[in-house]
Amino acid sequence: MSRTFPTHVDVAIVGSGPTGAAYARILTEQARGATIALFEAGPVLTDPPGMHVKNIADLDERLVAQRRSEGVRPHTATKEEAAYSDPSKRVVRPGTSLLPEGFQEPGEDGIPAIAMSTNVGGMGAHWTCACPRPGDAERIDFVPDLDELIGEGERLLGVDRHPFDDAPYADVVRERLAAEFDRGRPEERRVQPMPLAVHRRDDGALVWSGADIVFGDVTRSNPNFALFASAPVRRVLVEDGRAVGVVVRDLTDGAEHEVRARYVVVAADALRTPQVLFASGIRPKALGRYLNDQPQMVFAVRLTDVAHTAEEQHDPRGDTAITEQSGVQWVPYTDADPFHGQVMQLDASPIPLVGDDVPAPGSIVGLGWFCGKDLQESDRVEFSDTETDDYGMPKPRIRYRLTERDHETIARARESILRAARSLGEFIGDEPLMLSGGASLHYQGTTRMGPADDGTSVCGPTSEVWGVAGLYVAGNNVIPTPIACNPTLTSVALAVGGARDIARRLATGSDTALVAASERE
Ligand code: FAD
Repeated sequence: MSRTFPTHVDVAIVGSGPTGAAYARILTEQARGATIALFEAGPVLTDPPGMHVKNIADLDERLVAQRRSEGVRPHTATKEEAAYSDPSKRVVRPGTSLLPEGFQEPGEDGIPAIAMSTNVGGMGAHWTCACPRPGDAERIDFVPDLDELIGEGERLLGVDRHPFDDAPYADVVRERLAAEFDRGRPEERRVQPMPLAVHRRDDGALVWSGADIVFGDVTRSNPNFALFASAPVRRVLVEDGRAVGVVVRDLTDGAEHEVRARYVVVAADALRTPQVLFASGIRPKALGRYLNDQPQMVFAVRLTDVAHTAEEQHDPRGDTAITEQSGVQWVPYTDADPFHGQVMQLDASPIPLVGDDVPAPGSIVGLGWFCGKDLQESDRVEFSDTETDDYGMPKPRIRYRLTERDHETIARARESILRAARSLGEFIGDEPLMLSGGASLHYQGTTRMGPADDGTSVCGPTSEVWGVAGLYVAGNNVIPTPIACNPTLTSVALAVGGARDIARRLATGSDTALVAASERE
C-alpha cells in the first residue's frame, strides 16, 4: 500500500544522521506546533529509529543492519548473504559503502576510501562516538556563540566527558602521554580522556548514541513530526530565490511527491548534500569545493612496565571498537602540532594489529593520528550534468591532491605518533601505517560556512545558503576550518544554530516574504 506524504509542512529535513536529527529535535523543542517532515534515503534499521547498531545485542541482527546500510553494493557478510568484495581493496567499514568510481583521477591523490552510510541514522548508527571539542585553528572564529552551541551539541548527543575512567591502564596511558605532550599546552589542549557519546542504562548496559538519542522521546512523541524512510529527496524546489519544498521519491512504489515547505534543511552528508543542491540547480561557486579529509595513520604498542589486572579472561584479538576494557585517551590538536591523536587501549584500529598471542586486556594500545588538511579551493567533488550514480542522482567525481604542506604535516604527525608510541611501550609492527585517503570517515567543507558571501562559502553563519532564502545545509560539509578532530560534535553544534534560526523565524514570522509565499499555496 502506498504511503501518504504531506503536501505542505513548515520544515522539510533531508537526511536522518545526527545533524538532520538535531534540526528535528531543536525545532520540536523551540517551534511548538511547527510541522516537520524528515526524508531519509535509506531504510529504517531499528526501533526506535536511528539507534546505534552496536546496541543490537544479537550479532546476526547487527550484521544485517550493517549490510542494509551499505546501499546497492553491500559488503558485510551475513548468515544469508555473501560479502561483496571490492577488487581495489580499499578500506571499507561495516555499515558504509564506497564510491564505486570517480574517487581518484589519474595523477591525483583522490580519496579512495571515501564512504557513506544510507540508513536511518546515517553514519551515526555506526560511528565510534568520539566527541572532542575543536581547538585553536579548528574553531570557527566568526561563530560567536560556538562554545554554547557545542554545549547544546553535547546535550543532544549525550556526551560523557569522563567515560571509562576506570578502564585498566587508563591512568597509565594518560600519564605517559601527558608527560610526553603536555608541556606548554593550555589546560583544555592537554592530554585527557576522550569525551564519548555513550551512557550506561540502569541495568549497567552501555548505550552508544545514535540519531535516536539526538531525536529523543520529545521528537518521537511530537505529533507534528514525521520520519519517512526509504524516501530519497531528488531536488529542492526553488522559486523567486527561496526554497519552497522538495521532490521526494517513495522507494516503496517509485512514485515522486512534491512536498511544499517554508524551510528546507539538507543534511545528506558531505558528498550528497552538495549533490542535492547541484541537482536542484543551486550551484554557488564554492559548492563541492574546499573538500577536506583528514589523512590518518595508525600504529600499535604493547604497554610495558605495567602490573597485570585481574580481568585477563577477555581475549581482545579482533576487537575493532571501543569496549569497556579499553577507554580512549585524547591528544588534542594545537596550531603548533596540527594533528589529533586518539589512543585506544586494545585493538580499536580498522586493521588487525595483534598477532597470535593473547594480550592482557587493555595492554595493547592502538594509536590513530588524524591530520588537518591544507585547504584548497581545487579539492572538490564535482557532479555530472549527463551521468547519474546508482541512485539516479548527478554522478560525483573527486578531484583531490595533497600539498607539500600536507606531506610535511603527515611527516610531523608520524614523528608525533612515534613519540606517543615510544612513551607507552614496545612497538607492534615496524612503523606507523598510513591509511588510504578517506579512511578517517570525516569529510568536510563541501557546503562550507563563511562570514560573507564572497564566493568562498556556500552558507552564512546560521547555515542558510547564500542567495536561497529558507534553505539550510547541515553536516561536516558545513565546517570551514581544517578540523583534525572528530567533527560530528561541531557539526551538530552548527545544526543547533541553524535550527534555532528557523525556530526564531517561524515564531516571529520575520520572513514575511516566505510566509506570504507559503500562504499563496
Ligand atoms: P550522516 O550521518 O552521514 O547522515 C546523512 C544521511 O543522509 C544518511 O542517512 C543518508 O542516507 C541520507 N541521505 C543522503 N542523500 C539523501 C537524499 N538525497 N535524500 C534523503 N536522504 C539522503 N565522527 C565523530 O565525530 N567521531 C567518531 O568517533 C566517529 N567515528 C566514526 C566511525 C565510523 C565507523 C563511521 C562510519 C563514522 C564515524 N564518524 C565519527 C563520522 C560520523 O558518523 C559522521 O560525522 C556523522 O554521522 C555525520 O552526521 P550527518 O548527519 O552530517 O551525516
